[in-house]
Amino acid sequence: MKKIVTAETVRTTAIILVMACLLVAPDFIFSMFNKTFKHSVDIKVLFLVLPIGCGLILNKYRWFSFFVVSLLLILQFIQFSHIAYFGTPMTHYSIYLAIQEFGEVVVESINSIYRCFYVLPAVLAPFIMMFYFIKTERCKSICGTILLASSLLYFGYNRISLERFMPNEIRFSIDNSLKTLFGCIHMILTEDKVKKYVSYETFDIGKAFDEPTTIVYIIGESVNYRHMSLFGYERDTTPLLKDLAKSDNFYYVMGMAGGVNTLSSLKFMMNAIYEPDNKRQTSSDQTNLFKLAKSRGFKTFYISSQRDNVLASIGGVGYIDVIINNGSNISKVGKISDDQLLDQIKINELGDLNFIVLHQRCMHVPYSDWVEEARFDGNNEDDRIDKYDNAMLKNDRIISKIFGHFNGQKVGKFYIIWTSDHNELLGEDGLYGHGALVKKVAEVPFMIESNDGTFIDDIRGIGRMSHYGLAKAVAKVLGYEIKNPNEVNGMIYVSGADFNGLCGYMIFEGGGDDCKASLCRSSEGALPQSFEKDCGVVPTSLKNVQFKQ
Ligand SMILES: [Zn+2]
Repeated sequence: MKKIVTAETVRTTAIILVMACLLVAPDFIFSMFNKTFKHSVDIKVLFLVLPIGCGLILNKYRWFSFFVVSLLLILQFIQFSHIAYFGTPMTHYSIYLAIQEFGEVVVESINSIYRCFYVLPAVLAPFIMMFYFIKTERCKSICGTILLASSLLYFGYNRISLERFMPNEIRFSIDNSLKTLFGCIHMILTEDKVKKYVSYETFDIGKAFDEPTTIVYIIGESVNYRHMSLFGYERDTTPLLKDLAKSDNFYYVMGMAGGVNTLSSLKFMMNAIYEPDNKRQTSSDQTNLFKLAKSRGFKTFYISSQRDNVLASIGGVGYIDVIINNGSNISKVGKISDDQLLDQIKINELGDLNFIVLHQRCMHVPYSDWVEEARFDGNNEDDRIDKYDNAMLKNDRIISKIFGHFNGQKVGKFYIIWTSDHNELLGEDGLYGHGALVKKVAEVPFMIESNDGTFIDDIRGIGRMSHYGLAKAVAKVLGYEIKNPNEVNGMIYVSGADFNGLCGYMIFEGGGDDCKASLCRSSEGALPQSFEKDCGVVPTSLKNVQFKQ
């Protein structure tokens, strides 16, 4: 009987595993030199690196394996050089901009090479070993060739989310590099280009932090202010928040979200970005709130009951001291719920200056997940509304407990901020859920409590409250004024489901009540059907929409 497991099979298998490890080895070597670089030890990466490692060894054509490894070497070298210089992974948009400004990139690269000296050995060492194994261990199988080509194509191009080519900062960089490569190809094949906006500027306003300061920024999920009794809803769904609102330090108002779904909205609310198609700004951490807080000496926390994929939108991962979330996280604590967000803060030691972002999952669908007490059951023909209103009671308890924990601070300043990422429609105009490019989906509640009257006055002074306005006000608390030359007084943007503008956006003028125009890329399909009803203006030619700038 023929022996199935031969010494040769064992040897080949071992080398494939070594190849897989070598593909992620630069991340580990790089992190020894660059302390702000983070990546999770994500077991899912095996589904990426094992097929590639397998394909490289089993491939029939040696030149193809050499070509792929050479390509990955170049990509990873650019990737880690980008991270070493900017602190963020490259995107296909940053590659596009680098080509546009090639001369400046070369000059700056030469000037800063001494700070990034470790990049070349960190990347080169594992790749030299890969070249060696391909040279000595190749098995000549067409199946290996097909596996290699298909796994590269699958992991580079098969992205379900619309931000499919944008990197996730805590994933292994080989994954991000492949996404960038295919993002570049996608840009060349489509009309997806980088629009030239004037760069933002960030000014130090010379603020001194001579007393303890805690900023708590709570990101709510799918909250409809029309279903909060705080905002006048007939069912008393937020009794505890109504009590909190009696304080002179408390201010609440309805305003506009940055986007109509979680991933797009987070980009705007955590990075003070104004224009939905400003790809240069969305590829940068320049105005990221974690970055600004860290630069002021704040201890930074991101405690979340959401999955880690949202960090790709939030950004600034290298500037966060404590990250706790669900999924393949850096500081894994198992699955945490909204009830445990506050506990995690109590467990982790606070400093004199703290910037804490708490990210809720309650009240995302299914609403029944959040129902603790069926107080409103049977009062409405639509049980979705009953479930949602009952869930709001839990949300009321969670948020008011967090406010109550921080507003008793006896010494120093506290700033407690809560807003929802987007609205959740419950039958308004016959619409449900979120994600549609409709004005009502962007209408979100804001609640702020602070013992710093200047901050409350600044918030009150924002004509039409928005995530953008809020993020700029938070940056000011951190001692920075963000100047955006592209900002037009009284004009608010709301992004569609893609934070690079690929799903269109709405523009609101005159206090936010009138929708003047919208843009949808012609190659990405038509305007949402609900747009005409909601905004009353439909551009006749999607390609030639003119904007009032
Ligand atoms: Zn959301």
